[in-house]
Amino acid sequence: MPNGFQGGCLCGAVRFESVADPKIVAHCHCVDCRKSSGTGHCTHIVIPDDAFSVSGEVTFYDRPADSGNIVSRGFCPTCGSAIYSKNSGMPSMVFPRASALDDPNVVTPSMVVYASRAPAWDHVDPALPSFPETPEGGPEKVIADHG
Ligand SMILES: [Zn+2]
Ligand SMILES: [Zn+2]
Repeated sequence: MPNGFQGGCLCGAVRFESVADPKIVAHCHCVDCRKSSGTGHCTHIVIPDDAFSVSGEVTFYDRPADSGNIVSRGFCPTCGSAIYSKNSGMPSMVFPRASALDDPNVVTPSMVVYASRAPAWDHVDPALPSFPETPEGGPEKVIADHG
């Protein structure tokens, strides 16, 4: 029986809920995540799209990833908080940001990706499986392995 989780932006205009527990929780140290996060990395939750619901206006910024897939980063147009991302290569999944959770401790990070791009001052957890870039086979393979 999944417990799910809830979150939202800083101003409260955007709220989201997942009825599924996270499949994967990954720290990503890629440059795009650093620049959009306000710090050294993003922490992404991976869940099925059909378990996720969101209320309030979300603005998306689209940008291609290394893979050529388009990553759409959703944020609150009022307060700027990152809410969730989508990836054109994984249309059945969504990626809520752990930073937006009401209770950030409902998730436990399970891996580190793009560790090779982490700034020297950002902590890369040595206890987690760590990939220099994306895992071999792509995130879909990891989801299949962890699902
Ligand atoms: Zn907001
Ligand atoms: Zn990233």
